[in-house]
Amino acid sequence: MTKWVYNFGGGLNEGGAGLRNLLGGKGANLAEMASIGLPVPPGFTITTEVCSAYYENSNNYPADLAQQVAGALHRIEKSVGLVFGDSNAPLLVSVRSGARVSMPGMMDTVLNLGLNDETVEGLAASSKDERFAWDSYRRFIQMYGSVVMGVPHHRFEDLLEQAKHGLGVTDDTAITASDWREIVRDYKEVVQKETGKPFPNDPQEQLWGAISAVFGSWMNPRANTYRKLHEIPASWGTAVNVQAMVFGNMGDDCATGVCFTRDPSTGENIFYGEYLVNAQGEDVVAGIRTPQPMAAGRASPDQSPMEKVLPAAYEELMRVRDILEKHYRDMQDIEFTVQSNTLYMLQTRSGKRTAAAALKIAIDMAREGLITQDEAIQRVPPASLDQLLHPTLDPKAEKNLFTRGLPASPGAATGVIVFSAEEVEDRAAKGEDVILVRIETSPEDVHGMHAARGVLTTRGGMTSHAAVVARGMGRVCVAGAGGITVDYKAQTMTAGNVTLKGGDWITLDGGNGAVYVGKVSTIPPTLSGDFGTLMGWADDVRRLRVRANAETPEDAETARRFGAEGVGLSRTEHMFFGPDRIGFVRQMIMADDTETRKTAIAALLPFQRDDFTKIFRIMSGLPVTIRLLDPPLHEFLPHGEAELEEVAKAMGQPVEALRARRSALSEANPMLGHRGCRLGISYPEIYAMQVRAIIEAAIAVSKETGKAIVPEIMIPLVGMKTELEVTRKTAEAEVVTVFKEQGTTLEYLIGTMIELPRAAITAGQIAEVADFFSFGTNDLTQTTLGLSRDDAGSFLPYYVDHGLLPKDPFVSIDREGVGALVRMGVEGGRKTKPNLKLGVCGEHGGDPDSIAFFESVGLDYVSCSPFRVPVARLAAAQATLAARKEKATS
Ligand code: PEP
Ligand code: MG
Repeated sequence: MTKWVYNFGGGLNEGGAGLRNLLGGKGANLAEMASIGLPVPPGFTITTEVCSAYYENSNNYPADLAQQVAGALHRIEKSVGLVFGDSNAPLLVSVRSGARVSMPGMMDTVLNLGLNDETVEGLAASSKDERFAWDSYRRFIQMYGSVVMGVPHHRFEDLLEQAKHGLGVTDDTAITASDWREIVRDYKEVVQKETGKPFPNDPQEQLWGAISAVFGSWMNPRANTYRKLHEIPASWGTAVNVQAMVFGNMGDDCATGVCFTRDPSTGENIFYGEYLVNAQGEDVVAGIRTPQPMAAGRASPDQSPMEKVLPAAYEELMRVRDILEKHYRDMQDIEFTVQSNTLYMLQTRSGKRTAAAALKIAIDMAREGLITQDEAIQRVPPASLDQLLHPTLDPKAEKNLFTRGLPASPGAATGVIVFSAEEVEDRAAKGEDVILVRIETSPEDVHGMHAARGVLTTRGGMTSHAAVVARGMGRVCVAGAGGITVDYKAQTMTAGNVTLKGGDWITLDGGNGAVYVGKVSTIPPTLSGDFGTLMGWADDVRRLRVRANAETPEDAETARRFGAEGVGLSRTEHMFFGPDRIGFVRQMIMADDTETRKTAIAALLPFQRDDFTKIFRIMSGLPVTIRLLDPPLHEFLPHGEAELEEVAKAMGQPVEALRARRSALSEANPMLGHRGCRLGISYPEIYAMQVRAIIEAAIAVSKETGKAIVPEIMIPLVGMKTELEVTRKTAEAEVVTVFKEQGTTLEYLIGTMIELPRAAITAGQIAEVADFFSFGTNDLTQTTLGLSRDDAGSFLPYYVDHGLLPKDPFVSIDREGVGALVRMGVEGGRKTKPNLKLGVCGEHGGDPDSIAFFESVGLDYVSCSPFRVPVARLAAAQATLAARKEKATS
């Protein structure tokens, strides 16, 4: 016979925390608490398997369920000495749902079940409190009526308000027993009217009605949506918990409360929570009365802390708090009731907490000896560290949502709307806080992005230009907010029926993609000592090295501050947009003969040398990978007539000739066009100049600091071994020339990005001419999925929302597709060169899930934007620990 029902409390505990899948979180923990001797009212859990069977069997229960429930109910009766449905001393029960993971708001609780016109009299007699009995009865009708029978909640609320009005009272406490009697009668009439059925009088019918409502709620639209959002399979099902009622509303020696064993927002080791005297659970949640604090320490003079009001129960609760933390070895979120000064525990679970609290609790618990250092590392979600590195919106501030986009770069930013990078620079220079709003950004906007507090775009995905650059700079960014229409000419942006003008204030939340109208106050980041401690522990554990993607000295400094162990990608094309150099860059691109090109290139050399010198200096001997130019050409072409004329003048050529050249150079699909090493092959003098700048800078910094600088020169967008061979030859020839000129040599590496499927597939051949590989998973995702990085924003969210893809593949690596190519690249490369250095520098290098994958394929390092470095350090440590555990168990 299958066991469908598990008892807990009253001396018989058949479940425990280990049976969470079968009993749901609530049921498993009730049994666990009871089994360690905590005061839990007796009850039973109907398993999640019943839920599955119920749906598989067209909403029919297993044949022997009724018998098992009857037996378990009888056990409760014996345990508490009351009888379900008895008119003298009735047993009342609560019925609650409880899935494997908590699903707040999916299904409300039904309390006081078992009351009817007869048993209410018994309750009045046994409690010697008629008012309490009738108040409990009306609460039951209200809950059961709305939760089980579907009567709109407000129908009861309205009636109660009317009644209070008629009685001339404002507070529920002023309502007498006979008033409640009347209200009960009215409530029942409402039920009859709304449902066409009488309110059930038979306690057994009530019980099965509530059980079926819980199972039925598993498939309601609200629960379905919640499950989808949180990736909870429908097959898990919910359990149902039926438990003897205890009453927090039987007088002033009774109370009910919800609390955390530590402060869930700061992590401080204080008992944190709220309680209400003479109240039932839902009063705390409903906000009808103001709950009071638990401890006296933080209470204001007009508050009544539980410590003072119910000292004995409080002391008992402190003892329970201690036992729970020691037992579960984590911060707990608990619900309790005090009935006639006796404490009862109704729930415990691991408490939700902010990033700051997670960090502090993990460190404190490790120091207290409750958990190990390795466990502390695993307790903090790496992505949540973002919250600690940037200012965040004040949770208490009022907010007026304008629209939502993608949370492209975290933090909160408030400023006035400005539609052009130039104006941003001007206004920021005057000390204004500015938000740059663009349909999309291009490298020309970078200076404006830098000067802005935040960036908002209406097009583009998580690896669009705006997203990548903003993350790199640590600038707040909401990208791809498709609900906004921008009108540059009118200097307005519209979402729905709200139009904002240039100069109006907006606020971005880069952590969740929200855009708010007006100013919203922020709170600054606190990089407390705990942060450093946890990072140190993570560093001791992890195998993967963590580098940063950085091209400006500021980025490099930030990266080092956050603990980067080198630069994994310096995108040189990002260095070409300064106002002092863009002209030369355009001339270089637009030149149609080698001589003119060489002149422009020669002008760029000192800039590049200076850039590299600064980075080498800051990284002080740590490895630095510099990628040779990889520009989608269209980004560099002169836009508009004015720019065209300017370049023509500088080059001494007719505008006409340049216009023709521009159209010859423009491409239908620049991302797959003349970029990367293809450009270096067409114009070897560009790569030669960059190699010269790198080697000259490295020699200079080596001499200056006495440290060995080993530059890593990286060739982008290689698809074939021959491409790397050719570009490598150009580079090596230039290196030799510089060595000769300088009369010295140094160690250097020449490697390639693996960012095209062909490169991954033929990695074994490419490795013959490469000193290292760095996987460019942005382009590899784009080319593997045939999904444009810059255009995916318009439809990709739909794919993710509707489960066509589990996650945005530009954010978290598509293991089956792109991941398989990475694995192939690793295996191919290492087969040729067992010690080939392998890294990743796509955006995935900062994504915790992807980092776990990179650990599993054996990369040497990940490289990510500077602000993600701490996230990556922690994620890498967790990946190492997970890999160790897997090894130990396999
Ligand atoms: C990549 O493609 O993953 C990469 C790092 O290069 P970029 O983003 O500059 O194309
Ligand atoms: Mg790339």
